[in-house]
Amino acid sequence: MQRGEILCWLRESDPTRLADLWRLADRTRQEHVGGEVHLRGLVELSNHCVRLCGYCGLRAGNLSLARYRMSDEEIMGCVRMAVKFGYGTVVLQSGEDPELTCQRIAVLVGRIKAETRLAVTLSLGERDDHDLATWRQAGADRYLLRFETSNRALYERIHPSRPGQRGDRLAILATLRRLGYEVGSGVMIGIPGQTYDNLADDLELFGRLSLDMIGVGPYLRHPSTPLADRDIWPDAPGDQQVPASEEMTYKVIALSRLVCPRTNIPATTALATLNTAQGRELGLVRGANVVMPNLTPPKYRALYEIYPDKACIAETGEACHYCLHGRIEAIGRQPGRGRGDSPNYEVRFAAESTSAQIRNV
Ligand code: SAM
Ligand code: SF4
Repeated sequence: MQRGEILCWLRESDPTRLADLWRLADRTRQEHVGGEVHLRGLVELSNHCVRLCGYCGLRAGNLSLARYRMSDEEIMGCVRMAVKFGYGTVVLQSGEDPELTCQRIAVLVGRIKAETRLAVTLSLGERDDHDLATWRQAGADRYLLRFETSNRALYERIHPSRPGQRGDRLAILATLRRLGYEVGSGVMIGIPGQTYDNLADDLELFGRLSLDMIGVGPYLRHPSTPLADRDIWPDAPGDQQVPASEEMTYKVIALSRLVCPRTNIPATTALATLNTAQGRELGLVRGANVVMPNLTPPKYRALYEIYPDKACIAETGEACHYCLHGRIEAIGRQPGRGRGDSPNYEVRFAAESTSAQIRNV
């Protein structure tokens, strides 16, 4: 897909033309990843975070948030629930929490792999090469790390580096790929100052990175974060600012599908937060093929407050399970069986192995 075409779609507002985009994305999804909707059980391990991301309610500077960290036994309870509900994957997500040591996560991953057949996805923030390699060796299959925006200046403003270190998420994505992980990344849509050109760059970068998983969702303002202050963080000038809207999110899901046809794309909780009644379903018929039912124990859910009014915080794991099953069946699709590995990974891995062999001849 040409850049001009991406930009035209991002600015399109005619419902008839947009219906063509939704149809094209849905057809591409069916052809390349099929009709199954893969379920990933999400466990939000800890809301401790040492970072100061300007957009996120878990940032270290948010002193009004009560913090929690789950015990290994609590985490294993969620993992067993994932098995009971027939999910193929468990996703372990957290703030950047130094107490989640390399060793602790490695033991946990090893235990999950020994006791279950689940694929394990980690989303624990920016960790060093040694940690990532150790977890891969312990059996972790996938890693999610959004680059948030490909505009370097905007990224550095909203995502300050740790003192003395330059946080380079693209470099970490390259390491993950070298280590053999299925690699997931993505962006927020409608960050103050994000332009249409920036978003087109993001989509082009998805294609160049040949991502195995792409997570995109609207930026949602959290009042206890710096980005919520419109005087300090103004929108891009004129008509350049990307809206953090539901429709824009569907456009980016659909275009991600067209740019990376074999990738796995979730209909995210942030999207469901904008439209509780139908956000997930509409995401699924406009290019997405994954949902992430929340398994975090109810007593912790409200504390994983990335943004306010998050969907499903009052539910139990069981309620989320039945709710999402019903939604998938209502749109005529089937819950996925097996691990739901990314078809892109297989193709990419084979191509990379061949070129490595050629280099070694
Ligand atoms: N700490 C890890 C990290 O940053 O990659 C994983 C957890 S973090 C909460 C997961 C994602 O939440 C981030 O990559 C970001 O895109 C998203 N997020 C954070 N604050 C948000 C907000 N205010 N609105 C929408 N998404 C947000
Ligand atoms: Fe921490 Fe991730 Fe939130 Fe940044 S986005 S403050 S790293 S939890």
